Amino acid sequence: MSSNYRFGLAPLTWDFIRAVRGGTAIFTMPAGPIKYGGAPQKIAHLAADSRRRQCLLDTIRVILVLPTPAILSQPDWAKVLTRVTVGHGIEVHYNSHLVEVDGESRRAVILDNAPGTRETTDYELLHAPPTQSAPDWLMGVPLADPASPYGYPAADQHTLQSTRRPDVFALGDVANLPTSKTGAAIRKQAPVVATNLLAPRRGEPLPAHYDGHTSCPLATAHNRMLLAEFDY
Ligand SMILES: Cc1cc2nc3c(=O)[nH]c(=O)nc-3n(C[C@H](O)[C@H](O)[C@H](O)COP(=O)(O)OP(=O)(O)OC[C@H]3O[C@@H](n4cnc5c(N)ncnc54)[C@H](O)[C@@H]3O)c2cc1C
Repeated sequence: MSSNYRFGLAPLTWDFIRAVRGGTAIFTMPAGPIKYGGAPQKIAHLAADSRRRQCLLDTIRVILVLPTPAILSQPDWAKVLTRVTVGHGIEVHYNSHLVEVDGESRRAVILDNAPGTRETTDYELLHAPPTQSAPDWLMGVPLADPASPYGYPAADQHTLQSTRRPDVFALGDVANLPTSKTGAAIRKQAPVVATNLLAPRRGEPLPAHYDGHTSCPLATAHNRMLLAEFDY
């Protein structure tokens, strides 16, 4: 069992992928907004590609467990990625969650929300990123978005000004914005925050607007990548 969301474990994930010779490899995505939502899928694609290159298509089953009804929220990219998963022979379980793991006997329980059924699967490899939230110190303070159970600060999605306190701005992964949490998004958010921080000091309205731009580079094979860019 591994998770690329812990820096030191990422090389281990790859060692596991290369070592598996049979059985089931499960890749899960947690519910709620997470850092770079492409990462839990990317590693499933790379594992499926590795399986093909090692001629282990018939011996390894690759399962991708997603909490959402589609592979990606943006419909055009969702279509492309669905094709990729079909090509890789990845079994996708939509609206589903990893709810139990028995590490010793290598057994995972997957809940399918639609019918409400639980399936227990033996695994050889499990890649399971954790559910994520704002740091504890932020979760309880009035900056947190009351509409978000994850404690991320509320901000206007265009000006990035806190909707709770006008002298505060939010950007980066911690901001509760309806876009993907990526470094690419921050590159566009930072100049907006810098400009909008200074304007009120001159008594001017907030002039800069963020359009939700984000970018997800998704490796789909050892030699292929999909660069999905989108905005609000
Ligand atoms: C596996 C993975 C793959 C990714 N791939 C991509 C990609 O391909 N492209 C892309 O654009 N983005 C990618 N990202 C996302 C990108 O890394 C993040 O969007 C970006 O790092 C977020 O920056 P941030 O400064 O908002 O937050 P963070 O990088 O989380 O930085 C916040 C910092 O604040 C510190 N901190 C917290 N509380 C305190 C405190 N009380 N006092 C002092 N310091 C504190 C934390 O320790 C941390 O260092 C990936 C992320 C992951 C996890």
